Amino acid sequence: MSPIARVALDIPLDRLFDYRAPEAEAADIGRRVEVLFGPRTLVGVLVELAAHSEVAPAALKTLLHIDRDTPPLPAELLALARFAAGYYHHPLGAVLASLLPPALRHGGRQAASAARPVAYVLSATGRAEVAKINARKPAQFALATRFLANPVARADLGDREKTLLRGWQKRGWLEAATLPPPPAKERVFPPPTADQEAALNAIRAAGTGFSPWLLYGVTGSGKTEVYLRLVAESLARGRQALILVPEIHLTPQLSERFKQRFPGRHLVGLHSGLSSGERRAGWLEALAGRADIILGTRLAVFTPLPRLGLIVVDEEHDTSYKQMEGMRYSARDVAVWRARQAGVPIVLGSATPALETWNNARAGRYQLLSLATRAHAQASLPTVRLIDSRADHPKQGLSRALLAALEATLQRGEQSLVFINRRGYAPTLLCNGCGHVFPCPRCSAHLVLHRAHGNNSAGYRLVCHHCGLNTRPPEACPECGGVDLRPSGQGTQRVEETLAERFPEARILRIDRDSAARKGAFSAMRERVAAREVDILVGTQIVAKGHDFPHLTLVGVIGADQALVSPDFRASERLFAQLMQVAGRAGRAEHPGMVLIQTRYPGHPLYQAVARHDYPGFAAAALRERRAADFPPFVAQAVLRAEANTEEAALGFLLAAREIGLEIGQGVARGVEIFDPVPALMLRIAGRHRLQLLLQSGARGRLQAFLGVWLEAVARLPARGVKWILDVDPVDV
Ligand code: ADP
Ligand code: ZN
Repeated sequence: MSPIARVALDIPLDRLFDYRAPEAEAADIGRRVEVLFGPRTLVGVLVELAAHSEVAPAALKTLLHIDRDTPPLPAELLALARFAAGYYHHPLGAVLASLLPPALRHGGRQAASAARPVAYVLSATGRAEVAKINARKPAQFALATRFLANPVARADLGDREKTLLRGWQKRGWLEAATLPPPPAKERVFPPPTADQEAALNAIRAAGTGFSPWLLYGVTGSGKTEVYLRLVAESLARGRQALILVPEIHLTPQLSERFKQRFPGRHLVGLHSGLSSGERRAGWLEALAGRADIILGTRLAVFTPLPRLGLIVVDEEHDTSYKQMEGMRYSARDVAVWRARQAGVPIVLGSATPALETWNNARAGRYQLLSLATRAHAQASLPTVRLIDSRADHPKQGLSRALLAALEATLQRGEQSLVFINRRGYAPTLLCNGCGHVFPCPRCSAHLVLHRAHGNNSAGYRLVCHHCGLNTRPPEACPECGGVDLRPSGQGTQRVEETLAERFPEARILRIDRDSAARKGAFSAMRERVAAREVDILVGTQIVAKGHDFPHLTLVGVIGADQALVSPDFRASERLFAQLMQVAGRAGRAEHPGMVLIQTRYPGHPLYQAVARHDYPGFAAAALRERRAADFPPFVAQAVLRAEANTEEAALGFLLAAREIGLEIGQGVARGVEIFDPVPALMLRIAGRHRLQLLLQSGARGRLQAFLGVWLEAVARLPARGVKWILDVDPVDV
């Protein structure tokens, strides 16, 4: 009797599929397999072996292939996938597919190629040819000089250099090499501060099993230094460390610090900016247990790690840990669950913890460790001043106080940052005749005016930030025919322009998603700032996150009030975190920093808390409000999201789903509240109408039990062109 393989496939059905598997053995559990599914060949993961199948023998197909060239997914990872599938109510096959690197999701056989060499040397021909490269090609020449001297580690090559090397490789100039072990030199690191020592001792004392920690400390208080020491201790025990960071742009900076600290160790970066080959190679290194440190963004939380010993989630409050498509998981929450299941410590670090996390710490579910001061003795917290923009009438968005501070900073030869969280030239184009603003025809949003640079002439475009629509602004207002159309409000491009007029001698650099779009552009810009080739930075939140600019002493914040009037109850929490983060950019080294926030509401408690650097005060007030209003973290929420070409279709579906829920509600769902369907924050995106149904309960377990029963029934509803998905623990309701 041949065994039956139960295979998880990436299809929208939440069940396993049986295949005859004459050669399969227990060691194959967790391996990738190829199977016939209808007319298609699919790649899935073998998750169970069984003796019998419910499927009639004649209908049972045989496995086409078991990929034994790749190690199986460890049992721990399969359990993690099962947890995520259960908690987020997502099919196991889809979860498993999404945790494989893209290159391993298809075509079983050729997939597991050898990993890239860690280093290269010149071949004999290469040596002769490379010696001929002359200094008129500076990039090639510099590379040639390095290679003629020594083997070069792949990790030490930039993107441009890798491109050049591909040419060399094609011509047969290179061979794979291994690197000599690094010289054992006595390395000295700063002795920990008293706070750091106390934090480290507490974590050490708790042992190597599961223990969740919140490491709370302002930017520059030395959190990363604590991570580094914990990683060192974990590595010394022969374990792998998983470090999660919120943002792909942060990985180079941090991985540099880790590389310097652990020169002999194998560090693997994992994020969506890598080529699929690089991602596969890194993932396989981790799976094989060869990688020591995995540093990555949210997707890295699912990296297979047979020797996992420690998890760190840096900037744990960051919203980018939430996946917003497919399975809507929170990488932070999955990480905590993973640490528990693997029995390892986890450290969540932040200067402004998520209110959920802060509440967990207050309730004793996590242990709180505080780093009270900045680690550098000389560095103090920046002074925050609130500028009342009702009194100091800003011109083009910039108040006189801010302009004066920019001027003074410029004269001292220090750097400034003007932070404005709106990219483009102006948020809207306005008809001065009738007040018409230009809506996106496909979304519930205004079109944003952008300045397009090209072919010598700088023209304007109207762009939708939601669907990507990009059009030329009309000559005249479609409503009144007037031709006096004016940009209204400020975006990064306009601020950049205003500053250039005001400070013609200053070197100004704009950093936002548009200017940093090209691969490598962001790190090039960072290097320019570090090399002091820039006087004034204009940037959105991508500058605010964790970048260390030692010569930056002034931060001006404009346009922040917007978030105070948002309908999203989490908007103020995000604003507070953002302001604290951007304030943390000022004065990191020996120079004291100054932060100027322009606002119409200088008395607002949120700004007052920022000015006092008072996260605990802010959090206490915010949690009181949340409790009074029955919002998370005091209730558990889930949202059923539906979208369709018409509002009626989406609404009809959600009403039917609600109806079923109310019926079930008498039984398992006692204590689960089901609200009326309402439009999403953005009702329409790209012509699709989006509505949502909110469910909440004071008890997470009840909500979970209800969701399981309810979704089975919802899945049987006729969908009629409605696309729907469940979002557990949503962040935008
Ligand atoms: P965070 O991660 O909280 O922003 P970092 O660990 O990056 O803080 O530390 C901020 C700065 O202080 C860094 O330049 C770091 O090298 C330095 N630093 C950290 N810990 C110490 C210490 N114990 N002694 C001296 N300098 C330290
Ligand atoms: Zn649009």
